[in-house]
Formats: sequence, C-alpha cells, structure tokens
Amino acid sequence: MTERKNNGAPLLTEILPATELMRLMMLIRESHRVVITAHYGPDGDAVGSCLAWQEYLQRMGKDVHVVLPNDYPDFLKWMPMNRSILLYNESTVQAQQFISKADLICCLDFNELGRLQQMGEAVQKSKAKRLMIDHHENPSEDGFEMIISHPEMSATAEIVFRLLYQMGAYDDLSRSAAANLYTGMMCDTGSFTYNSRDPEIYLIISLLMQKNIDKDEIYKKVYHNWSQHKFEMWNDILRRNLVIVPNRHAAYYTLTRSQMKDYHYIRGDAEGLVNEPLKIRNMKLSVALREDTEEDVVRISLRSANGFHCREMAERFFNGGGHDDAAGGKLPFPMESAIATLNEALEAFKDELEGKVG
Ligand code: 5GP
Ligand code: MN
Repeated sequence: MTERKNNGAPLLTEILPATELMRLMMLIRESHRVVITAHYGPDGDAVGSCLAWQEYLQRMGKDVHVVLPNDYPDFLKWMPMNRSILLYNESTVQAQQFISKADLICCLDFNELGRLQQMGEAVQKSKAKRLMIDHHENPSEDGFEMIISHPEMSATAEIVFRLLYQMGAYDDLSRSAAANLYTGMMCDTGSFTYNSRDPEIYLIISLLMQKNIDKDEIYKKVYHNWSQHKFEMWNDILRRNLVIVPNRHAAYYTLTRSQMKDYHYIRGDAEGLVNEPLKIRNMKLSVALREDTEEDVVRISLRSANGFHCREMAERFFNGGGHDDAAGGKLPFPMESAIATLNEALEAFKDELEGKVG
C-alpha cells in the first residue's frame, strides 16, 4: 500500500478495516468477468463511480463492462470513457449476455436491486456474486456477497476513491478516472455546498487535482452547458407552475410531458430545478412532480432544508426513499392523483413543516 504520511499520521482515514480490505481484494482476485452497474436514471455520481471503478478493474486484468439500466443526461456525455457504457434498455440482448456470464456484479450508488428497474431481473438471475458500494441509508442485506455502505459519505465516488487509495491504487489512477471521481463528488454535493462538511473531502479533491484535472472546466461542462430551451423552461416553470404552500415552508411544481414537448425537453433538463425553491428564506421542502418520458409514472423529487428531513415522506407516500435531504420516488399516473397524494403528505407532516425555523 502506498504510504502517504502527514507528520506520521495517514493523510486519509482508512475506509475499511484490514479484514474487510482482504475480503474485497479476494473477491476481486477470484473474479474474471465483471459487470458494473448503477441505479436507474444514472446521475454524475453513478456514471463517475462506475467508470473509475471500471478503470481499476481493467488494470487488474479483468474483463469489465459498465451496464446502466437507462441513459444518463447529455451534460455528462463528455465524461472520459463514457462511450464504453452499455445501456440495458437499448442493448438488452448484449447486456443480458454480459450479466449472465459475469462472475462479479458491482452495484454502485444504489442499495437495493429494485432501483435497477427492468434490469433488476437479469441481475437477480445471474449466478455472479454481488458487491455493493454505496452511500444510501439502510442497504438491503439480501443477495450481496459484500456490502460497502457509507451513508455518511458525500458520494459513491468518494467511497471508490477511498477504496482505491487504501488498496494502493492512487499512483496508477489516471487523469480520466480522477475527472470521473471529481465529477461524481461534485454532482452529489451541489458543487460542495451540501453533504460536504468532512474536511477529508478537500484532501481527496487535492489528491484528484494532483492528477491534473481541471475542476473549473468540469464545473462549466456540467453546469454551464444549457440549451436556450432549458433556460426558458426553468424560467417558465418557476413563474407559472410553482405553488408555494401557505404557512407550510413548502413549495412544489409539476412538469408534464406536453410541457416538455413545448420546451424540446431532453434528459437531464429538469435536474437541479427542484433545488431552486429552497433559495427562499426558511423554506423546508421543495417537491417536483414530473411525468416520466419512458414509463407511465410520475417521478417525485424531494429536497429539504432547515431541519426538515424528506426521506420519511418519500418512503411513506411516494414508494421511494433516499437521503435525509434529497429523496425521491414514483406514483402512478395521472398527475392529479399525484398532487392529491402530495397534499396528503403535506397534511401528515403539517406540524413539522409549520414549526418555526430555528
Ligand atoms: P432525484 O430527485 O435526484 O431523482 O433523487 C434524489 C435521491 O432520492 C436519489 O439520490 C435517491 O437516493 C433517491 N430516490 C430517487 N428516486 C427513488 C426511488 O424511486 N426509490 C428510492 N428508494 N429512492 C429514490
Ligand atoms: Mn450518489
């Protein structure tokens, strides 16, 4: 293992106890054909973690494929090596072959196979061992050979970095993998504005920057890369669709397929919009209700602040889950009944939402 000492103390806290590290290394050593996957609706953390983990396993001589359940946003399509990704919903037959032949399936950035949607069945059927590397609360215990779960961490990319570092793989980490890991951490923390209080995160960023990544350029590629249609859609939704619920420190908006058509919507165009209402002073909850473009479901996104935590609401009312302050779920069509369910949820959490902001 590479020793990077700082006045005698290791620079980064080790993520795994020695016995677990051995288990992980054994699991990797015994595997030859590996599939790496992440949750449906992959985000920057999902894509970045998978690609960096892939690079490492390839260097270890494995035959590795990243297979994602469906496509990821266009603003991530510059990410190094992203063209090697196979999409299950588009290349199902080939993806199923890789999955059935694999002896190890690495499940990154999700904590239960249900989050793979249609791809979950193929993964269930495969005889491969499964390794979970994730930062969501309450991982499902079922069906995993090994679970590396760290809900206290900013992103799965942070976990992957720490694993690589502890396994002595930092020196060989490429600039491309460093860019992918940085992107993952940046995307899951709103550019290090939430879930990012651990001082070691900034040591990791420094170590990634020593690989010559251009963090300013990465920010620009992800966040300042809008189409004019997207810009107009955000303005119009906030002006016309946003409902600020009186006395509840809560706001919500809807986005229908017909509106998406008007704005030439492409995947990822609404990502981040749900955070906007939280810029209003004392706002506790922001909810987006968006008609899915592929399935007949309304996707719910919840974000919370000021002491209110939205995960329980996502679990109880929206068939979902997530993190304390960023959760999601889904409801059946139509939009009107989804709004009715949201109103029930707002009523059930009335006391917490109405309470004074401390
Ligand atoms: P987003 O609003 O960005 O789609 O999702 C925010 C977070 O909510 C995700 O990181 C994930 O943890 C969680 N989440 C979103 N959709 C679902 C879902 O359908 N089920 C579960 N369990 N969690 C979800
Ligand atoms: Mn994540």
